[in-house]
Amino acid sequence: IEVVRGVEPRIAEAIGAEVEDQRSSLKLIASENYASPATLLAMGNWFSDKYAEGTIGRRFYAGCKNVDTVESVAAEHARELFGARHAYVQPHSGIDANLVAFWAVLAARVESPALERAGARQVNDLSEDDWAALRRDLGNQRMLGMSLDAGGHLTHGFRPNISGKMFEQRSYGTDPATGLLDYAAVRAAAREFRPLILIAGYSAYPRLVNFATMREIADEVGATLMVDMAHFAGLVAGKVLTGDFDPVPHAQIVTTTTHKSLRGPRGGMVLCDDSLADQVDRGCPMVLGGPLPHVMAAKAVALAEARQPAFRDYARQVVENAHALAEGLSRRGGTLVTGGTDNHLALIDVSGYGLTGRQAEAALLDAGIVTNRNAIPRDPNGAWYTSGIRVGTPALTTRGVDTDGMDEVADLIHTVLSATTPGTAKNGKPSKAAYTLADGVAEQVRARSADL
Ligand code: PLP
Repeated sequence: IEVVRGVEPRIAEAIGAEVEDQRSSLKLIASENYASPATLLAMGNWFSDKYAEGTIGRRFYAGCKNVDTVESVAAEHARELFGARHAYVQPHSGIDANLVAFWAVLAARVESPALERAGARQVNDLSEDDWAALRRDLGNQRMLGMSLDAGGHLTHGFRPNISGKMFEQRSYGTDPATGLLDYAAVRAAAREFRPLILIAGYSAYPRLVNFATMREIADEVGATLMVDMAHFAGLVAGKVLTGDFDPVPHAQIVTTTTHKSLRGPRGGMVLCDDSLADQVDRGCPMVLGGPLPHVMAAKAVALAEARQPAFRDYARQVVENAHALAEGLSRRGGTLVTGGTDNHLALIDVSGYGLTGRQAEAALLDAGIVTNRNAIPRDPNGAWYTSGIRVGTPALTTRGVDTDGMDEVADLIHTVLSATTPGTAKNGKPSKAAYTLADGVAEQVRARSADL
């Protein structure tokens, strides 16, 4: 850090402050974790300087043999860990992994048949008319994914994201009475809408998804089942999610981030069966440029760590901790969407405390508890203010917090939310953002957190 300070002291300062923040606060953001020193060190090295567009053994640059080693080892660990036929470890993020997957499915299901019909090998060989028809077909496909307020992700077909512009999108939600995924409704929507891609996976759904059922639905309507396991990849790796709840044997294509419950470096990855492998490997140049070899090196290290028996203990503990946290919140009077959790996250409906998600998030942060506000199903406060707070246990579990500790965390959250009242805007009207946390509570909660 002293080397950095010599060049740009403000950055050295920010790095130091971030380490201090991450050490001294309770990190409950469900998508965050603490990567190991081995993973971080594998990322901070000279691989960062190397260009390696292409795939293993077929690069557009010379001198890529060491990158080939790194990418091969990372892909091998990914295949072994998840029992996948093929792994593509180049995507820089979860969004990139999803883009690679969308284009792979479009290429396999729309472009390849078009080329075959025209007797062409590649799009450059198509006549102008064929090419125009292909462009129309590529841009005229449908995607069915979980709605944002039920816990789906922006990349699953929502307007502000390119997926919502590339695809005509429809979403499935959860049962209003139980908050649970309604497979009959998904089936009905799939039958009516007939999507090219049925996408499963979530960012804020606190229960399990039956991927065997989702595959049945996809098969029935001729859709490709894509699962985005960005959030729960660590639970799949740690064999907590198995059988019908493990997406890899059921989906034709699975995407993930590597930095959430999987505890690797920031990045993405695509797993698929043989039918899509060639198309997935065209991620570069289709939607990616040069891969990040230093990040692929860190992915290899983190995936090797996830293959150790200790990672299974970790994954089991993540879920037990989430149970303890959810149970502790409910016992103290908190309301949880679906009433609890089966995975690594829970969604608190903070309207019971008389707060918006935005007010609750800010008050918790004052007390050193880092969370994020999140819409709940049919949220009256919309996606900006929200009525929910999402909490997850991957990061605190990495720090060694156990179920007793999680009960204490539940108490700290409840203490802060109970001591927070909505404020008024400057014009005296009720505000969805302003709040008051009772005097002394933040300090008291911070002091108690330090003992965890
Ligand atoms: N997919 C899901 C389900 C996610 O929850 C996220 C991130 O929150 C992403 C994709 C995007 O990941 P990234 O931020 O690495 O692009």
